[in-house]
Amino acid sequence: MNIAVIGTGYVGLVTGACLADLGVNVVCMDNDEEKIGKLKRGIIPIYEPGLAEIVQRNYGERLNFTSEIGEAVQHGEAIFIAVGTPSLDDYSADLQYVFSAVREIARCMEDYKVIIDKSTVPIGTGRRVREEIGKVLAERSVNINFDIVSNPEFLREGSAVMDFINPDRIVVGVDNEKSLEVMKRIYNAQLLMNIPLVVTNIETAEMIKYASNAFLAAKVSFINDIANMCELCGADVVMVAKAMGMDSRIGPKFLNAGPGFGGSCFPKDTKALIGIGRAIRYVPKIVKSTIEVNDRQKRLMFNKIKSVLGKLKNRTVTILGIAFKPETDDIRESPALYIMEQLVASGARVKAYDPQAMENTKSLHPKLEVQYCEDVYSACEDTDCIVLVTEWEEFCSLDFRKLADIVHSPILIDLRNIYEPDFVRNAGFIYQGVGRK
Ligand code: NAD
Repeated sequence: MNIAVIGTGYVGLVTGACLADLGVNVVCMDNDEEKIGKLKRGIIPIYEPGLAEIVQRNYGERLNFTSEIGEAVQHGEAIFIAVGTPSLDDYSADLQYVFSAVREIARCMEDYKVIIDKSTVPIGTGRRVREEIGKVLAERSVNINFDIVSNPEFLREGSAVMDFINPDRIVVGVDNEKSLEVMKRIYNAQLLMNIPLVVTNIETAEMIKYASNAFLAAKVSFINDIANMCELCGADVVMVAKAMGMDSRIGPKFLNAGPGFGGSCFPKDTKALIGIGRAIRYVPKIVKSTIEVNDRQKRLMFNKIKSVLGKLKNRTVTILGIAFKPETDDIRESPALYIMEQLVASGARVKAYDPQAMENTKSLHPKLEVQYCEDVYSACEDTDCIVLVTEWEEFCSLDFRKLADIVHSPILIDLRNIYEPDFVRNAGFIYQGVGRK
């Protein structure tokens, strides 16, 4: 089976590499020539555990890279689109990358293709993609058969390889048997492993992705709302979430109070659902509140730092963790960025350390006045306050005796509730978590 993947980012590269590892012949294409150049030299442009080994194992055999769309389209019987779908200012999803990829595919396809949308796209996009391809083929005065499939991706950055190979389910939205058979061939290895396959129409598959992400985001905002109430009434959100999670109807995941969700998906997908609602004259109120609670949560976290320190001007604040979650270098919409920007704007000196995300932060936010440090302890030297924002494993066993000797004032604001408050207080620190005393 020969496939092509257009867009070689977090989703495209993982999809291409994992499918190659499972026996499919893959050409991954990206119009970012620097990215493709790196991949050809064996450099993985993102940090994703386990990915480098899979790419190395398959590169030059079942996995190849190109920046030529024609080469990719010619190779693939099926072509995945895995380009970005960021938010526009009016909350709707920006589909310019999807449609530009679609037009490029249509301009060079010569025979039957299955065009599979793996990007997260608004309901109805599959239909628009079909029309767009039809238009380009008509301009070319050629009559070529093709099918459209929606195959949303549910992988999580940080565990993307395992999530792709062993997902909870594979969702395919199709409108005929022929394209379904192609999808079954692509996912043959996983289907043999008894991974459930959910087959629906294209619109339903598109909605499944948004509904899933919005539900998880709502769970995070829900527990953050409860956490804020806990702080005001003397309850402990960690125990509340633990007991709630023991209820099998609720489940323990996505119930950790914290600085709010970030990343490349939840913020933009909740917004896109509002945009989709606008187009069909419906206001998804829970999704709207989910976004509002999340925006407020980030502000509350900044206020927490401000109220512990009194004033911020000329105070030194250490940020531990910039990535939106551990085990990734992705900083898109990370709460740490918002907090750092607010601190800098308030005149604070900001020192920061992240095991993987500092290069991205420097290159994507070159004007952000932050002193990047090479480890936890140099970041905490002479600081007035340590703010733990991302729960990287190395931040979960800090040496508080050592820290007490090097900080200017012993204050820990633990935005992930990693530590037991008394444990940190007994080490001589002022401690504040989220939603607990
Ligand atoms: P990304 O920004 O990491 O990668 C997108 C890639 O597409 C970039 O390398 C870009 O250069 C390339 N590109 C853009 N236009 C192109 C074109 N016309 N031709 C070729 N390449 C092109 O994005 P991502 O995080 O991988 O997300 C891709 C899609 O998958 C989005 O819709 C996202 O919502 C969805 N998704 C992401 C995740 C995640 O965790 N990142 C999980 C599930 C679904």
